[in-house]
Amino acid sequence: MLLLALESSCDETAAAVVRDGRTVLSSVVASQISTHAEYGGVVPEIASRQHLEAVSIVVEQALQEAGVGIAEIEGVAVTQGPGLAGALLVGVSAAKGLSFGRQIPLVGVNHIEGHLLAVFLERPVEFPFIALAVSGGHSHLYRVDGIGRYTTLGQTVDDAAGEAFDKVAKLIGLPYPGGVAIDRLAADGDPQAIKFPRPLLHDGSFNFSFSGLKTAVLTHVSKHPEAKGEGINDLAASFQAAVCEVLTKKTAAAIAATGIKRLVVAGGVACNSGLRRSMAEYAAANGVELSIPSPSLCADNAAMIAVPGDFYLNAGYQSGFDLDALPVWPLDKLAARFTGGK
Ligand code: ATP
Ligand code: MG
Ligand code: FE
Repeated sequence: MLLLALESSCDETAAAVVRDGRTVLSSVVASQISTHAEYGGVVPEIASRQHLEAVSIVVEQALQEAGVGIAEIEGVAVTQGPGLAGALLVGVSAAKGLSFGRQIPLVGVNHIEGHLLAVFLERPVEFPFIALAVSGGHSHLYRVDGIGRYTTLGQTVDDAAGEAFDKVAKLIGLPYPGGVAIDRLAADGDPQAIKFPRPLLHDGSFNFSFSGLKTAVLTHVSKHPEAKGEGINDLAASFQAAVCEVLTKKTAAAIAATGIKRLVVAGGVACNSGLRRSMAEYAAANGVELSIPSPSLCADNAAMIAVPGDFYLNAGYQSGFDLDALPVWPLDKLAARFTGGK
């Protein structure tokens, strides 16, 4: 099936043309980062307006780059949630228009499900697998038994990993979004220079907590102002090491508890070089099959939305024109799709 997929859940307006949920013919991402950077974070109202301006342009570009006409598109998949309501509505409305105008089926997709399955655009992974979703809004560990069959094993009790990177970056004077900047600075720093806490590491749960770590960074820089200056590489490396150690060890515990030795790491924070390294080391030492998508597929994009989109349409699940944006939409609820629910 030749699908057009749309994504507008946060600050990227994206469109992609994907064949059979596996082959990316084009993937266009218009980022609003430079606009929001001025405000130090995403401003929802501005995001919606920018999605409106960009959506038809990215769709046209995606079709053009794929070398296909709109008449050849057989279905439309769109991010239905979770995300910013006003931002989601732009993609949802555009997708409904395309579906209605072309008389082709429409399917609403969960953004996090897209992140978890993005790896299928590069390589197949056998079920079941353990998935760690680390992004701007999520730090979740899932057991994945098939497409649409997710069980939450643990999640953050406060900030998401990406949120922690962005907040810490802000408090040490780096521009939004700070994850990439911290990653870059950390490359030339000593990860053992500052002993930051490893929150919830030994609590026996699969949950995460990052807000205490952020406070620890704040306390450290108020006592040692030079840490934001000449010591910034060590600070970035030490903070990143703390986040990566907790993410890796909790994931390792979930794998040990379930006996499932296949792991997918997904979402924007999966671009982090320290996390990719620590997961690779853990996997190699423990005989775990690790799959992490290329960075462009870890960050928000529309191609990943086509993977579940294609699966659901082929399975006979289709959304109606009453499709509504779902700002909050836990993955565990997706199983209802197989019993005729939404
Ligand atoms: P969600 O997917 O939970 O709805 P989102 O879509 O806003 O949230 P993503 O776009 O998937 O989040 O990921 C963005 C996050 O990833 C930001 O917090 C950003 O700082 C972080 N990030 C991106 N690259 C890196 C990196 N190299 N190191 C650390 N964090 C990174
Ligand atoms: Mg984003
Ligand atoms: Fe995302």
